[in-house]
Amino acid sequence: MEITLTKTTAPKQKPEDGVLGFGQYFTDHMFLMDYEPEKGWRDPRIVPHGPLSLDPAAMCLHYGQELFEGLKAYRGADGKVRLFRYRDNIRRFNRSCERLDIPVIDEEAFREALFALLRLEMDWVPRSADTSLYIRPYLIATDPFIGVRSSKSYLFIILLSPVGAYYKGGLSPTGIYVETEDVRAVRGGMGSVKAAANYAATLRAQTRAGAKGFAQVMWLDALERKYVEEVGTSNAFFVFGGTVVTPPAGGSILPGITRDSCLCLLREWGVPAEERLISIDEVWQAHAGGRLSEAFATGTAAVVSPVGKFCYNGETIVIGDEPGPVARRLYDALTGIQWGRTPDTMGWTEGIG
Ligand SMILES: *Cc1c(COP(=O)(O)O)cnc(C)c1O
Repeated sequence: MEITLTKTTAPKQKPEDGVLGFGQYFTDHMFLMDYEPEKGWRDPRIVPHGPLSLDPAAMCLHYGQELFEGLKAYRGADGKVRLFRYRDNIRRFNRSCERLDIPVIDEEAFREALFALLRLEMDWVPRSADTSLYIRPYLIATDPFIGVRSSKSYLFIILLSPVGAYYKGGLSPTGIYVETEDVRAVRGGMGSVKAAANYAATLRAQTRAGAKGFAQVMWLDALERKYVEEVGTSNAFFVFGGTVVTPPAGGSILPGITRDSCLCLLREWGVPAEERLISIDEVWQAHAGGRLSEAFATGTAAVVSPVGKFCYNGETIVIGDEPGPVARRLYDALTGIQWGRTPDTMGWTEGIG
């Protein structure tokens, strides 16, 4: 694939690692590629990061035909920059495309685009502990048309953003509000893919929970408001009497790559791990019976995020203000592999030369 490069004439000053936060700064360049009917994906190009020119009738602005991915490049202590299981992100991106009736992107072309942009922006991968370069590939419907149908033209974009730790407290446990009114997704809907529209449905509950002092919302299933689904935009795990349990992915739950990595590691370590339905009542009963030793959420942004307490129907249960041993061990193992501190026996990382 021939990628055209237009270099910026005004490189930005890079922010200090200490002020990065999450998703506020962007690198000098971005990758763009168009899809046009008959022609397919065309005109792959790297251009200075900047505003897009979009018709106000562009279909993505009206009906939410858009999707995204999220992954990171990590700079190890050895100076080497690594990606973690990025091929899984590309495949999930294409599954999202299929669900949203959008033409998929060839996996190798996607890889070439990603590596070309990363090689150009290598200096933007921050160096301090817990920092990384967040990668945001996304795709929008661009037909200037306000009738409802699938668009015929699309724009694929990759942005890069240097980031610090997702939660300021690092691995310190957060408070979670169990949402009983709004729902995130329903089986047959789009919950198992990274469709932008899924996130719009969650914002009101997130704001309300924040106002009550909780870091995230825990979502229950849409039909019975009974089974645990996800925590914010991450997957939910519980430790019941030594067994790690997480709800089955697919259906209304996003199959997280961090979730899958945790399950792989637990199996490797011989720790019992189950994928099964978990009712919120079971969580409450396990807590009452002293069998709920840990709860945590997993995702690319925060890796593993322990839950300190849950609030459900006005009642709060406290799990603890220290991360539990399972969360801690998974966090150390995953971040060890991602930052190249421990050998990658799983073959999950690939260096960018
Ligand atoms: C992205 C995401 C996750 C986590 O997926 P990872 O691949 O581990 O980053 C979980 N739930 C939702 C809703 C998500 O959007």
